[in-house]
Amino acid sequence: MSQTLFVSDLHLDQKRPHIIAAFCRFLNECSSADALYILGDLFEYWIGDDDPAIGLEPAINAIRKLSASGVPVYFIHGNRDFLIGKRFAKQTKCKILKEETVIDLYGTPTLIMHGDTLCTDDIAYQKYRAKARNPFIQKPLLMLSVKRRLKIAEGLRNKSKSATQEKPEDIMDVNQQTVEQAMTKHNVNLLIHGHTHRPAEHEFNLNDNSYKRIVLGDWYEHGSVLRCTPGSVTLETIKT
Ligand code: MN
Repeated sequence: MSQTLFVSDLHLDQKRPHIIAAFCRFLNECSSADALYILGDLFEYWIGDDDPAIGLEPAINAIRKLSASGVPVYFIHGNRDFLIGKRFAKQTKCKILKEETVIDLYGTPTLIMHGDTLCTDDIAYQKYRAKARNPFIQKPLLMLSVKRRLKIAEGLRNKSKSATQEKPEDIMDVNQQTVEQAMTKHNVNLLIHGHTHRPAEHEFNLNDNSYKRIVLGDWYEHGSVLRCTPGSVTLETIKT
């Protein structure tokens, strides 16, 4: 059976080995898929391709095994693992896609992305993002020792945790106008993304056209998987 799978926001971390194991089991079951798309935040953090990746080896090896078996694996950066680079891609034989990519999903042009760029009401985050993604800022940062970068990453995670608690719920969701702009710009009626950890299928109309936005969930307690076949789209929850 033809199927294409999408996941995001796994936030793999050595502190949650059962989630790493669940992801490996899931990858084993993908061996007959047409493709697997990982839409960002595969890892809780990634400090560059020299990341020690402690405890993450099983997941990395399982991705490589799946790619090597002939299933294309695609990756889009999330806000936690945007430093994943060429070395990681080579190691896992996955292909890193642009932050906004249009794919042909069994005849339906579909826009895929992590989703953080849609949260334009969170101005503080968008400012941080612009800096973090700036190559002139990234380059000197990547020259720091692994130890220093691990420390910085830890500091950022703590900062983000407290900022997230203070921010109103709606600010951290997508901005509908930004969604509409992105879909119109890419001329698509289907959008798939993650990031907000609010799994859902949203339908809306605009100028007599109908649009659909599918949001993947995170892998903190259960796994969230979008399974697409030529005739169906199913947002599933898998046991971890
Ligand atoms: Mn995210």
